[in-house]
Amino acid sequence: LLASQSIPTHTTPYTMYTPKIVCDSSRLKILITGGAGFVGSHLVDKLMQVGHEIIVLDNFFTGQKKNIEHWTHHPNFTVIRHDITEPILLEVDQIYHLACPASPPHYQYNPVKTIKTSTMGTLNMLGLAKRVKARILLASTSEIYGDPNIHPQPESYWGNVNTLGPRSCYDEGKRVAETMMYAYKEQNNVEVRIARIFNTFGPRMHPNDGRVVSNFIIQALQNKDITIYGDGNQTRSFQYVNDLVEGLVKLMNSDYDGPVNIGNPDEYSIKNFAEQIKEMTSSQSKIIYLPKVADDPTQRNPDITTAKAKLNWSPQWHVKAGLAKAVEYFQAVLDMAGDDGIK
Ligand code: NAD
Ligand code: UDP
Ligand code: UDP
Repeated sequence: LLASQSIPTHTTPYTMYTPKIVCDSSRLKILITGGAGFVGSHLVDKLMQVGHEIIVLDNFFTGQKKNIEHWTHHPNFTVIRHDITEPILLEVDQIYHLACPASPPHYQYNPVKTIKTSTMGTLNMLGLAKRVKARILLASTSEIYGDPNIHPQPESYWGNVNTLGPRSCYDEGKRVAETMMYAYKEQNNVEVRIARIFNTFGPRMHPNDGRVVSNFIIQALQNKDITIYGDGNQTRSFQYVNDLVEGLVKLMNSDYDGPVNIGNPDEYSIKNFAEQIKEMTSSQSKIIYLPKVADDPTQRNPDITTAKAKLNWSPQWHVKAGLAKAVEYFQAVLDMAGDDGIK
């Protein structure tokens, strides 16, 4: 464990995390779209603790009120239930644009809505950024590289995406969102930042989210079958959420406006990952193999040369230390759910 930042829980009152007093000239009004989600809520914590004024826009599709409720009564904090596919007028200095379902079952549940969120939603946020001259950061994704035939993936790689497959609503949505960011930069001088985020995990992931980290840990803790899709030789590189939040804030406040990969190059085959989680949790689960999902990328690993050089950022959390935190969190979620099961 290299970093030991404490994470407020759903029940921690904000008074335990006294924000620093920042002088008025350095206090910013910051909009976070998707701020009630997994990553967004950790970003809210970080920026609230610095002493900025935060506005969260969220439609609560995959976000949860309990992720941000410890800030509800703080004078620097506002949450607005709003769907970003609709226009909105606000006055802000910076926009972290995270709103979009991120887990495959969630973004494939209503693909048309996912496309609208990445296109109309990003357009509205760019229109807002243009009008109020705010800097805007897009939470893009390693999925823009599709099933990559260059490994690891540098930002200069254009990707290999199927326009018609089940993942395309998400992948192509994010690709056009990146394109819109650059069009507004060129045409309207909007200050843009693009983070290409690789698989991230940690507390506050939705337990029914369907992503591999939440599925495997919950299955292992309940001694249920651990479900591998396909042969398990596909790889992913996992980063702990605190590292991502540091990277996003550094990118927003840097001068660099090219796309930047933010991820931890520690790469695992899914088979090996399942074995590690089983071992960590001393689980009796059986590892089983289910059919491969369509268009599942076979390998993924971030080349983080740019983040190191331009942001002086690199991951500080070992994956195992992060997984220990995630196991603790999911155990607490299961304990709270009791016999009713997780909802
Ligand atoms: P999440 O699903 O937990 O959070 C997304 C949030 O956006 C939720 O609070 C949801 O309610 C909100 N939202 C969705 N559609 C909306 C809409 N139309 N209007 C308003 N709010 C809306 O996902 P996350 O893991 O926190 O991901 C956050 C961002 O980071 C996403 O843009 C995702 O694409 C990107 N990202 C995440 C990862 C990862 O591993 N977590 C990897 C790559 C990229
Ligand atoms: N928009 C918004 N809030 C603002 C400014 C713009 O939601 O403060 C929306 C606006 O309704 C439009 C989109 O952002 O749908 C793009 O705005 P832009 O000004 O670039 O385009 P235009 O309105 O000229 O089509
Ligand atoms: N995966 C799996 N079992 C699960 C959930 C996911 O084997 O229960 C696999 C999935 O097929 C993919 C990898 O784990 O190869 C990562 O999946 P996830 O949904 O977490 O993220 P993404 O595919 O978007 O990287």
